[in-house]
Amino acid sequence: MAKQDSRKDSGITAGAVITKAGSSMKNKTGFWGVFKPVLLNSRCNACGICVQYCPDGCIVIKDKKASINQDYCKGCAICSKECPSKAIIMQKKILKSC
Ligand code: SF4
Ligand code: SF4
Repeated sequence: MAKQDSRKDSGITAGAVITKAGSSMKNKTGFWGVFKPVLLNSRCNACGICVQYCPDGCIVIKDKKASINQDYCKGCAICSKECPSKAIIMQKKILKSC
Protein backbone atom coordinates (compact mmCIF):
# COMPACT_ATOMS: atom_id res chain seq x y z
CA MET A 1 0.00 0.00 0.00
CA ALA A 2 1.36 3.43 -0.96
CA LYS A 3 2.32 5.74 1.87
CA GLN A 4 0.18 8.88 2.03
CA ASP A 5 1.72 12.33 2.31
CA SER A 6 -0.20 13.89 5.21
CA ARG A 7 1.24 17.34 4.48
CA LYS A 8 -0.27 17.26 1.02
CA ASP A 9 -3.64 16.27 2.44
CA SER A 10 -3.58 19.06 5.00
CA GLY A 11 -2.52 21.72 2.51
CA ILE A 12 0.57 22.56 4.62
CA THR A 13 3.81 22.99 2.68
CA ALA A 14 7.14 21.45 3.76
CA GLY A 15 8.50 23.47 6.67
CA ALA A 16 5.15 25.28 6.85
CA VAL A 17 6.56 27.86 4.45
CA ILE A 18 4.09 30.38 3.08
CA THR A 19 5.08 30.70 -0.55
CA LYS A 20 2.79 33.38 -1.88
CA ALA A 21 3.08 37.03 -0.97
CA GLY A 22 0.01 38.59 0.59
CA SER A 23 -1.26 35.29 1.94
CA SER A 24 -1.25 36.38 5.60
CA MET A 25 -4.82 37.55 5.15
CA LYS A 26 -5.81 33.92 4.57
CA ASN A 27 -4.74 33.01 8.10
CA LYS A 28 -6.66 34.58 10.95
CA THR A 29 -4.09 34.75 13.72
CA GLY A 30 -6.02 37.11 15.95
CA PHE A 31 -6.74 34.43 18.53
CA TRP A 32 -3.06 33.49 19.00
CA GLY A 33 -1.94 36.31 21.23
CA VAL A 34 -2.22 36.83 24.95
CA PHE A 35 -1.65 40.54 24.42
CA LYS A 36 -3.17 42.89 21.86
CA PRO A 37 -1.86 46.20 20.53
CA VAL A 38 -3.81 49.33 21.39
CA LEU A 39 -3.18 52.57 19.54
CA LEU A 40 -2.84 55.80 21.50
CA ASN A 41 -4.32 58.07 18.82
CA SER A 42 -2.89 61.33 20.11
CA ARG A 43 0.68 60.01 19.82
CA CYS A 44 0.43 58.54 16.32
CA ASN A 45 1.87 60.73 13.56
CA ALA A 46 1.17 58.24 10.75
CA CYS A 47 4.87 57.66 10.03
CA GLY A 48 4.09 54.11 8.85
CA ILE A 49 6.99 52.38 10.58
CA CYS A 50 4.66 49.92 12.31
CA VAL A 51 3.14 49.09 8.92
CA GLN A 52 6.58 48.12 7.62
CA TYR A 53 7.46 45.97 10.63
CA CYS A 54 4.21 44.08 11.23
CA PRO A 55 4.88 40.49 10.11
CA ASP A 56 1.20 39.88 9.48
CA GLY A 57 0.61 42.98 7.40
CA CYS A 58 -2.39 43.89 9.51
CA ILE A 59 -1.65 47.58 10.05
CA VAL A 60 -2.62 50.25 7.55
CA ILE A 61 -2.60 54.04 7.71
CA LYS A 62 -6.17 55.26 7.62
CA ASP A 63 -7.35 58.83 8.21
CA LYS A 64 -3.75 59.80 9.13
CA LYS A 65 -3.52 57.23 11.93
CA ALA A 66 -2.39 53.62 12.21
CA SER A 67 -5.28 51.18 12.06
CA ILE A 68 -4.75 47.63 13.36
CA ASN A 69 -6.89 44.75 12.15
CA GLN A 70 -7.11 42.61 15.28
CA ASP A 71 -8.48 39.62 13.33
CA TYR A 72 -5.01 39.07 11.85
CA CYS A 73 -2.81 40.32 14.69
CA LYS A 74 -0.95 37.60 16.55
CA GLY A 75 0.14 39.87 19.39
CA CYS A 76 3.88 39.73 18.75
CA ALA A 77 4.38 43.34 19.97
CA ILE A 78 6.88 44.24 17.23
CA CYS A 79 4.80 47.29 16.29
CA SER A 80 4.85 48.47 19.88
CA LYS A 81 8.62 48.03 20.16
CA GLU A 82 9.36 49.78 16.85
CA CYS A 83 7.01 52.77 17.11
CA PRO A 84 9.24 55.80 17.72
CA SER A 85 6.35 57.75 19.25
CA LYS A 86 5.39 55.01 21.74
CA ALA A 87 1.90 55.18 20.27
CA ILE A 88 1.16 51.46 20.56
CA ILE A 89 0.85 49.76 23.93
CA MET A 90 0.27 46.07 24.52
CA GLN A 91 -2.72 45.19 26.63
CA LYS A 92 -3.48 41.78 28.13
CA LYS A 93 -6.53 40.17 26.56
CA ILE A 94 -9.39 39.04 28.71
CA LEU A 95 -9.60 35.35 27.89
CA LYS A 96 -12.92 33.54 28.08
CA SER A 97 -12.93 30.33 30.10
CA CYS A 98 -14.44 27.19 28.58
S1 SF4 B 1 4.95 53.65 14.09
FE1 SF4 B 1 3.78 54.66 15.72
S2 SF4 B 1 3.60 56.79 15.09
FE2 SF4 B 1 4.20 55.60 13.30
S3 SF4 B 1 2.24 55.08 12.28
FE3 SF4 B 1 2.76 53.38 13.65
S4 SF4 B 1 1.70 53.86 15.55
FE4 SF4 B 1 1.76 55.74 14.37
S1 SF4 C 1 1.33 42.90 17.56
FE1 SF4 C 1 1.66 44.53 16.07
S2 SF4 C 1 3.33 43.80 14.76
FE2 SF4 C 1 2.54 42.01 15.85
S3 SF4 C 1 1.01 41.13 14.49
FE3 SF4 C 1 -0.07 42.54 15.86
S4 SF4 C 1 -0.17 44.48 14.77
FE4 SF4 C 1 1.40 43.22 13.78
